[in-house]
Amino acid sequence: MAMTIDGKAISQRIKDELKEQAAALKKQGIKITLAVIQVGNDPASTVYVRNKKKGCEYIGIESLSYELPEETTQQELLSLIGELNRKEDVSGILVQLPLPAHIDEDKVIRAIDPKKDVDGFHPQSVGALCIGQPGFVSCTPAGIIQLLKRSSIEIAGKECVVLGRSNIVGKPMAVLMLRENATVTIAHSRTRDLKEVTKRADILIAAVGKPKMITADYVKEGAVVIDVGINRDENGKLCGDVDFESVEPLCSAITPVPGGVGPMTIAMLLNNCLESVRMD
Ligand code: NDP
Repeated sequence: MAMTIDGKAISQRIKDELKEQAAALKKQGIKITLAVIQVGNDPASTVYVRNKKKGCEYIGIESLSYELPEETTQQELLSLIGELNRKEDVSGILVQLPLPAHIDEDKVIRAIDPKKDVDGFHPQSVGALCIGQPGFVSCTPAGIIQLLKRSSIEIAGKECVVLGRSNIVGKPMAVLMLRENATVTIAHSRTRDLKEVTKRADILIAAVGKPKMITADYVKEGAVVIDVGINRDENGKLCGDVDFESVEPLCSAITPVPGGVGPMTIAMLLNNCLESVRMD
């Protein structure tokens, strides 16, 4: 039977470590403040924002809330970001995505001061990651590295297949695995003989956004399987990209959904908030 990697427990340990570090910084007179901007009221975004603010509160980070109406113009949003960039007492800025269709997400991401880019989406952060320089790392991939390390799963020298090549998960994930000395393959919707490719993986990371797509015939016996997907199945129940029931019996370790990768994303955001004052 596979080891189920408990992301909830691991993220709680990280949050407790961060809480101590935040308290130590406070003693030195260093305050951490995260500005959280939400445009419109997409219900999923509202839940994510609420959880991020709750996380801040838990570890002792002040969060400033900017809840802007759906019809906010791009210029108004860019002006607010400019204002927050200039505020010395704001250490991190987070703009909850997705934004309404009339706002250019790339422009907004680029407007955030890279020193306050706690989501790690700014091209400067992404570039720094690629060439191994200090900078913010995208939270979900950073969380997966922590899950692997804290579960004592060796990465160096292993065959890793990352399924998905998005800017926020697949690509930074592949770079991080490379940094940890894995041999990395990135697969996507145009990959030929996908099952043959994924079956090479000692560590398979699925970030496709297709409910239960990864069944047993995609997985090598004894592989470690990390499921990034957050989807709804045909009954509306939360599920991942991996068909847990068929994959779990043949792999050596697996993350569940919920309770696997998801909780790590917020823990790593909080870690980046602490980094934002350390980077100064
Ligand atoms: P995107 O839709 O941006 O990317 C999906 C990727 O999967 C693309 O690269 C796409 O290929 C590839 N893909 C799609 N269908 C197939 C297929 N049939 N075969 C092979 N590859 C395929 O998604 P994200 O990266 O943003 O998110 C992926 C999943 O992770 C989603 O379920 C999302 O909700 C979840 N997620 C979870 C987070 C967490 O905290 N746990 C955080 C972020 C995302 P191509 O590029 O060729 O189109």
